[in-house]
Amino acid sequence: MNRAVRVLVWNEHRHEQKNPKVAGIYPEGIHGEIASALREGGLEVRTATLDEPDHGLTQDNLDWADVIMWWGHLAHGEVADEAVSRVVERVLGGTGFVALHSAHFSKPFKRLMGTSCDLKWREGDDHERIWVVAPAHPIAEGLGETIEVGPEEMYGEFFDVPPPDELVFVSWFTGGEVFRSGAAYTRGRGRIFYFRPGHETYPTYRHPDVRRVLVNAARWAAPTDGPKPVFGNAKPLEGR
Ligand code: ZN
Repeated sequence: MNRAVRVLVWNEHRHEQKNPKVAGIYPEGIHGEIASALREGGLEVRTATLDEPDHGLTQDNLDWADVIMWWGHLAHGEVADEAVSRVVERVLGGTGFVALHSAHFSKPFKRLMGTSCDLKWREGDDHERIWVVAPAHPIAEGLGETIEVGPEEMYGEFFDVPPPDELVFVSWFTGGEVFRSGAAYTRGRGRIFYFRPGHETYPTYRHPDVRRVLVNAARWAAPTDGPKPVFGNAKPLEGR
């Protein structure tokens, strides 16, 4: 791609309005913090939130975006099914999708995975250390052997997702749990990455390595210029 990757950062934007602690950590909203990380990384960004018309998932924004990055938690059920269908259709057609933290339960991610996407969790100030288990993967570029995230919500296995095409990160928590925290998939022509950290009551999206992963994931998930698949009845290409 000869131009900057374009990322539509989608956030339900409810915790920031309900919980002063979250608003204090992310005064510009979680989407604002994520957007700043992506802009620092040289990407073009638009943001969209649940309460905008069409949840901000307008035709114009979807046409513009190479990648959709999604944060949601309290209000998955309020996302209209037709908006979800538009997003899923785009992803199958080649738009990248990056699901962050509690977006494991978001409608688009669940639909793309086809499983419950359920997991184990605990809000107990566990410390999280993320191990890079695919050091050659583009999403791990520029990282060390581990990311020491610090205090975070715990997510534990079993994480009910299909086996990832590529597993990039595994998290360890002080409670003893482990979790597949960086999972890469393709569905149709689209690339999908799930990235675990980012509970709203911790300043995780200000962590330099987490910000680097956001940039790397957006770059990786952006569509490539590969051939468009042709389906249906076909004439032979060779001799007859
Ligand atoms: Zn959380």
